[in-house]
Amino acid sequence: LIRYLISRHTYRKYIMTVLDNLPTIKEVIRQYGLHANKKLSQNFLFDLNITTKIARSCPNLSESTILEIGPGPGALTRGLLIEKARKIYAIEKDARFLPALNDVRNAYPGRLEVINGDALNHTILENLAPPVQIFSNLPYNIGTELLTNWLDPPKWPPRWETLTLMLQREVAERLVAAPNCKEYGRLSILTQWRNDVKIILRLPAKIFLPIPKVDSAVVQIKHLKVPRFDVEYSILKKIVARAFNQRRKMLRSSLKGISPDLLIKLREANINPTKRAEEISIEEYCSLAKIIGSIT
Ligand code: SAM
Repeated sequence: LIRYLISRHTYRKYIMTVLDNLPTIKEVIRQYGLHANKKLSQNFLFDLNITTKIARSCPNLSESTILEIGPGPGALTRGLLIEKARKIYAIEKDARFLPALNDVRNAYPGRLEVINGDALNHTILENLAPPVQIFSNLPYNIGTELLTNWLDPPKWPPRWETLTLMLQREVAERLVAAPNCKEYGRLSILTQWRNDVKIILRLPAKIFLPIPKVDSAVVQIKHLKVPRFDVEYSILKKIVARAFNQRRKMLRSSLKGISPDLLIKLREANINPTKRAEEISIEEYCSLAKIIGSIT
């Protein structure tokens, strides 16, 4: 009945404030005179209903250490805390957000530590108590570099258990893509080879401020202790890179020079040499990589 009596806007505001008794993100931004800095890829989320939903996608928040990259004014941080995250370490490069994040820290004693620094140069992940779950509404300018570092750590399994990341929709679709679709490529294969990957939310650009040029999606990547197929990463990576460099060509041409008897090896791996890169499954790429053995 109340919902019918008050306007939609007031209702949303009501929901958003009762979630954690702190001012809404819009009020926080106004209070501290914050504005988005394009150079740091700042597009803010406001709706704690969305950020709590993102947080809930990770089943064991209350038993995990959380690493958040780029908390900004704190919408995702607060979503995680509302959903009972045990302890969050949040790295933010832009010091203008520290006072607002301080207020969040005070509202959740002992559960949030804010680090003013650059996530690209930070080694904190090495020192966090496992299990570690990484969350981020990624700053797009450094998103690819961070993702590559997380997906290709010096040792497998990695120090993180899950990555829950807001990314450009197009990158998210590439991460989860299956063979025979245009999004399928290097990123799909090298990620899915040793992780479970799913899209948990697709979100329109208009939920951010400022509104970015592209839509977004939240992806969750959960590492597998052992890769799906036993093969050396460096060889798989080289083969896949070659194949997709010329994705419209048949493998017998795109992989030319990779091994002296390529056609025999393709046959041995049960791969038709006239097929194209996007028609080959992860298992087939792995079996070819294993047969080829080494690439100079
Ligand atoms: N988490 C907030 C949200 O969802 O509204 C902000 C997300 S905004 C897309 C990206 C955030 O990452 C900004 O707060 C920005 O200042 C921060 N950032 C950008 N580059 C960074 C870096 N190298 N290290 C740490 N944080 C960075």
